[in-house]
Amino acid sequence: LKHCPLDLDLLVLDAFRETRYLAHGQTLQLAPFEPVQIEGDEDRLKQLLLILLDNALKYTPVGDQVTLGLCRHGCEVDMLVRDTGIGIEPEVLPHVFERFYRADPARSRDPGGTGLGLSIAQWIVEQHAGKIWLESQPRQGTLVTVRLPLRDHSSH
Ligand code: ATP
Repeated sequence: LKHCPLDLDLLVLDAFRETRYLAHGQTLQLAPFEPVQIEGDEDRLKQLLLILLDNALKYTPVGDQVTLGLCRHGCEVDMLVRDTGIGIEPEVLPHVFERFYRADPARSRDPGGTGLGLSIAQWIVEQHAGKIWLESQPRQGTLVTVRLPLRDHSSH
């Protein structure tokens, strides 16, 4: 994996622009944010965002919302992907990072998924010394948080 200085805010904007065309009736929103510099692999981090946004859109019905945000605090930054979609049952939540794991395909809009997306996402986050977790309420929606070290702190 490459580790180069990069502007995370521009990368988030980029991913947002690309995903806009994948939305089919959901509202895709970008929460306002400030410039953020981290150390990382641009292509992999973009892939990470596309996995999370793709999931958010896949499990969120037409008319609902997906919001992408970036929030800096202390020596870390959070990338937030929030949706108001179908949510995840509490007994399913601990398994979503397992390879090939998929909740009952009958519940999803797109039964064609492989169940690999989140395990790849988790691997990418770990390669950046970060953390990823999901909070979810069935029928209310899901919040995915990716927490990464800021540039001047990434080597500590
Ligand atoms: P793919 O590999 O194509 O992404 P997938 O979406 O099934 O397929 P993961 O991304 O690994 O695989 O997600 C695992 C499971 O977690 C999904 O099958 C789904 O049940 C649940 N899940 C993930 N993101 C969301 C979300 N935003 N809302 C509701 N359920 C989700």
